[in-house]
Amino acid sequence: MPPPSHSAATAVPRGARSRAPRVLQTLEAHYPDARTELAFTTPFELLVATVLSAQATDVSVNAATPALFARYPDAQAMSAAQPEDIEPLIRSIGLYRGKARNLAALARLLLERHGGEVPNDFGAVVALPGAGRKTANVVLSNAFGYPAIAVDTHVGRLARRLGLSGQTNPDKVERDLQTLFPRERWVFLHHALILHGRRICTARAPACGACPMADFCPQVGVGLASR
Ligand code: SF4
Repeated sequence: MPPPSHSAATAVPRGARSRAPRVLQTLEAHYPDARTELAFTTPFELLVATVLSAQATDVSVNAATPALFARYPDAQAMSAAQPEDIEPLIRSIGLYRGKARNLAALARLLLERHGGEVPNDFGAVVALPGAGRKTANVVLSNAFGYPAIAVDTHVGRLARRLGLSGQTNPDKVERDLQTLFPRERWVFLHHALILHGRRICTARAPACGACPMADFCPQVGVGLASR
């Protein structure tokens, strides 16, 4: 089952509907190959990497996962591990104790309920320890090709700065973006916004002077205002 679309009526900010196509065109021109920066070769590895990426950088996750996946290549192998076995392998990642607990429990649940495979089902992924709507969207879109918009800190911040959503709740931001962009571009949009948020429109020092969206961004200059 794909991620459910939000059906509630939305009230996006004024001008959002005319701005959205310009945002998409600009992202397509500047980040044509946008994709996840997490390293993975199987749905299980993607699920684990996504759980580890909560409040951590993809770079730090990618530095740790080769050794983790060499030791625990699938749910069956990881299900035999105790959290203390996993901890040393992910110690360099923030919140590693809780994440080790979640991974051990998650692997066991995959084995018990899903034959050791990552379920191709939004509701089943959301129900796994350490996973939430964002994780499920990442896994379903990148591993199974479903249209989804995972709202992380970058996507949420850019949606607000670009006047595409006035919401702070990630679920509501996701809802607004779903109404503004064509379904077939949701996965691209998510990855491209993340890249733009990392490279140009950072949280603390947005480089509006170098931003290709400065012409139509309602928050242009926000970096100067906060200094
Ligand atoms: S103009 Fe500034 S605030 Fe707007 S998207 Fe670009 S960097 Fe971010």
